Formats: sequence, structure tokens, C-alpha cells
Amino acid sequence: MSTLRVLSTAHGGEGGYDADMQTENTLPTRLLLGPGPSNAHPEVLAAMAQPLIGHLDPAFLALLDGVQTDLRTLFGTDNRFTLPLSAPGSAGMEACLVNLLEPGDRIVIGANGVFGRRMSEVAHRAGAQVTRIDSPWGEPVDEAGVLKAIQDESPDVVAFVHAETSTGVRQDPEVIARHAREAGSLVVLDCVTSLAGLTLELDRWGIDAAYSGSQKCLSCSPGLSPLSFSERALERVRARKVPVQSWFLDVSLLDGYYGTERVYHHTAPISALYGLQAGVRRALAEGMPARSARHLEAAEYLIEKVQPLGFEPLVRSEYRLPPLTTLRIPENLGAEGESALRRRLLTQHGIEVGGGLGELAGQVWRVGLMGENARLECVDRLVWALDKELNSNPGTE
Ligand SMILES: *Cc1c(COP(=O)(O)O)cnc(C)c1O
Repeated sequence: MSTLRVLSTAHGGEGGYDADMQTENTLPTRLLLGPGPSNAHPEVLAAMAQPLIGHLDPAFLALLDGVQTDLRTLFGTDNRFTLPLSAPGSAGMEACLVNLLEPGDRIVIGANGVFGRRMSEVAHRAGAQVTRIDSPWGEPVDEAGVLKAIQDESPDVVAFVHAETSTGVRQDPEVIARHAREAGSLVVLDCVTSLAGLTLELDRWGIDAAYSGSQKCLSCSPGLSPLSFSERALERVRARKVPVQSWFLDVSLLDGYYGTERVYHHTAPISALYGLQAGVRRALAEGMPARSARHLEAAEYLIEKVQPLGFEPLVRSEYRLPPLTTLRIPENLGAEGESALRRRLLTQHGIEVGGGLGELAGQVWRVGLMGENARLECVDRLVWALDKELNSNPGTE
């Protein structure tokens, strides 16, 4: 990986450019093995460096069309309304919830980590009556609890996370989605860490709205949220009694630009979309069966290699999420030791891994092997550095 260079230029007089006043800041090279972002492939970086064209230029609209088609394939859907929202994954979450919920509507949320809780917070702020079914962190969603809540409440919306990045748990979406649809509820699925890492089948599972992020298994720059709504979901939005509170996230308005009319809504982040085009093309050229197998192989290799160093997987094997593995840190390390060790991995070896979030802070590491980084070489680099640090620093201060 080449070093990223940022040139900051100072201008001398009359808008002129004075080479002597140019200062150069060099950013470090990092291997990003945390919960995102992952490293972008040089093809993605090169795509982003292309000259700008207008966001209504026919050439740009053709690029956008291609990206939308490719995203449908990756999501496993025919949903016409499938687009890269100009905002991070959290905004994709918000877009799903604020469009599908009106004040007073009921939502049941299966929560087993940070992102399920975030959904509850967003739904609450949208004025919904929220029933949150919690399960312990590191476990899948409490399916029986969610099914009972669906039966008891006939909620307008049921929402949960496919790939819980805060705990490393993969949720099987089929059973909850089927029961929710039978009860007449719309189903929202967080696919931020699953898109392009696991094979998605939104249509077969019966998902009505899903969102993702560009910086995880797509290995693109952060700031775009692939988003997809079914016709059923769009009908629900059209039937609203009160307008969507957010102008920017209102899907009917977004449809004006991303649909067939192609009228101005906001200025699309052109360069980020060049990168996304390159990223989705790489994913499709590889093919999802091979790509998800690669993620699984890398995650299994990671666990095999770190166990001798005292790291144990938190999640039972049947629920593990290959793009993100949570590892219990060795007991003798302690909370202070673990953050010092992560710091040394970063500063001495240029490797970023994630710490635990919320209830798991100080107890686990979150190691992302996402997209371009789901490779045995990345694991080898991490394990080599870890071995060196653990063995050259007895007691690890
Ligand atoms: C990262 C992540 C998000 C939030 O995405 P941002 O781009 O950071 O806003 C939401 N849900 C899950 C499961 C994630 O991993």
C-alpha cells in the first residue's frame, strides 16, 4: 500500500501559486483491521482521483445508473428504489426509520448490540412507540421474544441488525422477517457490515428496507449509504398522513434525482461515487460466493492463529460474523494493557484494531477482516506484530 500524501498549498499574492510555500504533510500508512473503515483498493483510490464532472452530466448519470444496478445485485433485490445515499450508514438507518414511521406508529426492534440500540433511539426520536427486545451482547437477537412482540403488538415496522459490528454476531433474518410480514409489518434490516461480505437476498428473505455503508465490506471511502426500499415500503411512505420530518431523507424527494426524472435534489458526492463504482465492480467481478468464502476463510484463520496467544472468540461458531471477529483479550492483559497494546500495534506496526464498545469495553477486541482486508496476509501481519509485542514486553505495562 502506498503512502497517502496530502499536499497543502499556500497561495502567494494574486491567486498565484508559490512552490516555496508549499508544505507537505504525510499521513501514515495503516492496515485497517478495525470495525471500519477498511483499506480501499488502489483501483478505488485511483477512481476517486478522476477529474470532476457535473452531477447532472449524462456521463455521471450513466455511472450512477450502473452503480444502482450493481447495488441491486449485491443486495439480492429487484427493488427499483436502490441507491447510494449521500451520507454515512447511520443516515441510511435514519432514512429507513423516518420514512416508514409516523408519530405514534409501533416498532419492534431486536437489539443485541450498539446498532440495535441506535435504531431504537432513532425510532424514538421519530415519535414511534418503541418495543426493544434485548438479548445479551455476543448472542443473536432473541427471536422468540421478537416473535411474541410481533404477535402481541402487530407493529407497523420490525427492525434488526443483520451483522452486529459491535459484537461480531450474524443474525439469520429469515424467521423474523417471515413472521413480521405475516403480521403485516414492514421489515427493516441493517446490512452495514454484511453488504459485499455476506451473500444478501433481500427479496427472498422478504426485507422491505435495508441500508448499508461504503466503508466496510465494500472497501470504499466512508460517507455513502447504499439504500433499498421495496414497493410495499414506498406505498407505505406515499400513504403517510404527515410528511416525512426530514426533507433531505424523504425518499419521495430522493426518488426525483435517483429515479427516472433526474432532477436536482442535492449535489451528489461525485468523487466518492467514482470510488463506489470501482468498489462494487470489484465485488461483482469476484462474485459473492467467492467473496463470502474468502471472508470466512480469513476469519477462521484469524481465530486459529490468535488462540495460541490467549485470545478466544466471544461468539459461538454458528453465529459468528466473518467480516468482524470479537476476541476476548487474555486475562493477564487487563483493561489498561489492552488499550496500550492496541496503541502499540498502531504506532509501531501501523495496524488498527478496534476496542470493545459499551458493555464489552476493555474485554474484547474487534478485528475487522472486511472487503479487501479479508486476506490471510492481513492476519499474518497482525499475528506477527501481536506476537512480537506480547513477547518483547512481558507484563505489557
Ligand atoms: C458502522 C455501522 C453503522 C453506522 O455506519 P456509519 O457509516 O458509521 O454511520 C450502522 N450499523 C452497523 C451494523 C455498523 O457496523
